[in-house]
Order: sequence, then C-alpha cells, then structure tokens
Amino acid sequence: MTGAALTVPDEVLAKLAVAGPRYTSYPTAPEWSDAFGEDDAVAAYRRASESPGDPLSLYVHLPFCSRLCLYCGCTVEIHGKQSRADRYLDAVEREIGLVSAHLRDRREVAQLHWGGGTPTFLSTTQLRRLFTMLTSAFRLLPDAEVSLEVDPHVTTREQLELLAELGFNRVSMGVQDLDPAVQQAVRREQTADETVELVEGCRELGVAGVNVDLMYGLPEQTLDGFGSTLDLIARVRPDRLAVFGYAHVPWMKPAQKALEKYAMPDPALRTRLFSEALHRLGDAGYVVVGLDHFALADDPMVHALEAGTLHRNFMGYATRPAPDMVGLGMSAIGDVAGAFTHNPRDTETYEARLADGHVPTARGLLRTPEDELRRTMILSLMCRMRVDLDELEAELGRDDLAAHFATEWDELRVYADEGFCTLDDRRLDVTPTGRLFLRHMAMVFDEHLRAKRAVGEGPRFSKTL
Ligand code: SF4
Repeated sequence: MTGAALTVPDEVLAKLAVAGPRYTSYPTAPEWSDAFGEDDAVAAYRRASESPGDPLSLYVHLPFCSRLCLYCGCTVEIHGKQSRADRYLDAVEREIGLVSAHLRDRREVAQLHWGGGTPTFLSTTQLRRLFTMLTSAFRLLPDAEVSLEVDPHVTTREQLELLAELGFNRVSMGVQDLDPAVQQAVRREQTADETVELVEGCRELGVAGVNVDLMYGLPEQTLDGFGSTLDLIARVRPDRLAVFGYAHVPWMKPAQKALEKYAMPDPALRTRLFSEALHRLGDAGYVVVGLDHFALADDPMVHALEAGTLHRNFMGYATRPAPDMVGLGMSAIGDVAGAFTHNPRDTETYEARLADGHVPTARGLLRTPEDELRRTMILSLMCRMRVDLDELEAELGRDDLAAHFATEWDELRVYADEGFCTLDDRRLDVTPTGRLFLRHMAMVFDEHLRAKRAVGEGPRFSKTL
C-alpha cells in the first residue's frame, strides 16, 4: 500500500479504542508465570541443544540511560556513571557462560541485537568487552544481522567507528518526533542535525542498515509537525522505519503520568497521524510492512512480506525466522524450544542470581500445542496480512482448522462488515484500512484473553488506537 490515507468514521474509532496486546508474543506476557523458573529454562536450553545445526538469535538487554524520556516503555535504569556498567557486564558474562554450557554445541548465531536502555551508554572499552564475551561463546555466521539501538544524542563518532570495526551492520535509532514542542513535553531533546549526522556517519563507515523509530500519539503532536518529521526523515532515506503508537501505561511506567497534564491525541487524531505516515512515506517510496514498519521497496523485509516469510518477535518484525531466541541481561525475554523465558526486571536481583551461580530466569511459560496453533494464526495475521486456512492446514498437516476456529471465524464477521477485512469460509485478507485493526482481529484468536474476559478480568494493556 503506498500513498493511501485511512478513512474511518470517528465514532467507529472511539468504539474500537479498547485495550489490547501488541502480540510480540503469544501467549502474551501477563499469562506467564513465576512458577516457571531456572529448571524450566535449563530444560528449554537442553532441548534447543538437540538441534546443533540451527542458528540462534541472541538478544542482549543493556538497561542504562543517562536521561529518562517520559514516554519510555522500556526497562531502564538512569545513571550518570558509565562505571556502573562494569558490574552489570560481569553478570552478563556469567549468564553467557551458564546458558552457552546448557546449549552445548548449539552456538551459531544468525541474528544478534543489543537493545535497551541505550547500548551506547557503554564506553568503547565496555562495548568491545561485551562483543568479545559473546563471540568467545558463540559463532556469528558470516551473513548474520548484527544490530543495536543507538541514541543520536549520546552516540559518539568513536563509538560508531568501533561498532563498524566489530561488524555491526544495522543500527536502530530513536527519533520519535523532531517537533521541539513535542520533544520538550516528552523530555527528549534531539536536533534534526544530530539524527542526520548519525545516519551519514553510519553510511560513511559502511554500516549499511539504518532503522529510524518514530512515534505517534505523543502530547503536543500535530499533523503538520509530524508531517515535517516524516518528510525530513524520508529525505535521509533510512532503509527501514518503524512508526509506533505511543503506549500510555502509567500503572507500569509511573514517569508517563507527567504527560497527563497535556491533552493527549484522541483515537481520531492518532489515526490521522498514522495515516499521515502511510501517505507521506508511501509517496516517498516506502512500503508498509505489518502493523507499524516501513521499508524501501527493494529491502529484504519487503521481499519477506511478499514471500510470506516475514516473522515477528520481541524485537518487532524480522526477515529470518530464527527458531530460538536467547535473551541475555536483566528483563531480557527469550523464546527457546517452545518456552518463553523472562529474566528479573531489576538489575540487583539479576546480578545477585548470577553471583550465586543460577540461570536467572524469573518467570516464563511453556507453550501448549493449542498455544502454538493460535500463535500461528496470530502470526499469519500480523506478518502475512491474511489467514488462509488452506495454506495453514498444508503447513501444519491438519484438516480441521475451519471447525476448530468456527466461533472465531463468526466473530471476525464484524470486522468484515466494517471493511477491515474480506472474509469467506476459508480465507481472511486484511484490507489497507484494516491494518490499523490487526490487534483487534488477533485478539479474536487469543483464548487466554477470552477466558479472562469471560470472568470479568483482564490484564491491562495500552489502547489499541
Ligand atoms: S533513551 Fe530510550 S530507553 Fe532510554 S529512557 Fe529514552 S526512550 Fe527509554
């Protein structure tokens, strides 16, 4: 879809602005339990070790930031001193040692990502140390995607040069909105020049992949201001962009409460802001991918979308489905051999568990066959923009999906009536406007959410619109 604008009546938007998950996992994190711990995680790593030829994805969480952006939804610690990261890296080193021992010969890595926090909070010595720790235990495949998140406001030329030397081939930089009024409200001030310089620096140094993250739904945002940001970023030509909706979850992120003194964009304005992204980025040659990503037409992400091989995990959309993702660091999430693993969400507990010689997993979930099936349906919606029962039955080796999901199929008719999908007995296709309601359609397949709602409960999520 290029250049299209969304037209949905305001009263429909208001009705559908309900709370809902983003489905970076299924079952979603509120369903995971602290009954799942170290032994379960070790068992998952051992199962994963039985396929030594399959590559891994590795995610490392680096929680430190030197400033707190008020919209932040990540697990972060604000510190003035880089030296704090030394003790943290000691713990990560212990975790790498324990986890890699359980993975035995399963050591090849197709995707390595450092997220945070701000990975470039670390000094060049600390960055090099972390990279060496990882590559001493794991083997990066020659065509591996090696990426990290960078903050244009704090990342130095010296750090970029080191990252290029180490072989990082993709950076992801947060921009959100370049409008000064928005930046002041959310307390993240970052000039357009800083962003442009960082993109140009990456290119000069041969770091070919550049993602820019933008955000809509922030206080003080206007169509004109956000439109100017989109145009400026499109001129810089990152190969990929993500345009996320701001998730207001002050019960989890108390700093977000400070934003409530502003009039927040309502569902109608949020939709217009996202529509602006569809329209301006489409006109600039970007193709919309999944829920919230955009890529240049010749990008592997677009090829994966067209080939039906796009994947979705905690890091967003991925071009290669790595069968197992190992999460390292405080709060890191892994997806290994049918289980989600989740590390402690505070650094002290994470470090103490490792100092005592334990795999630090604090909670998680072992998926059931029914979870796997529903996950497949949700991933098909999120990644292929369709649920084709013939296609999925062939892939899964079953012939009963229509009967199994008869109730869900019936419930999806309401979205077909609104024009968000086309639906016949065996196939659902999301329409361009329906892209905005992917989370709603995915919720139909979420039996955990259905069970909670049936008894009047429900985990708290951000608004879907
Ligand atoms: S730099 Fe990123 S991770 Fe750190 S506080 Fe800001 S939004 Fe959160």
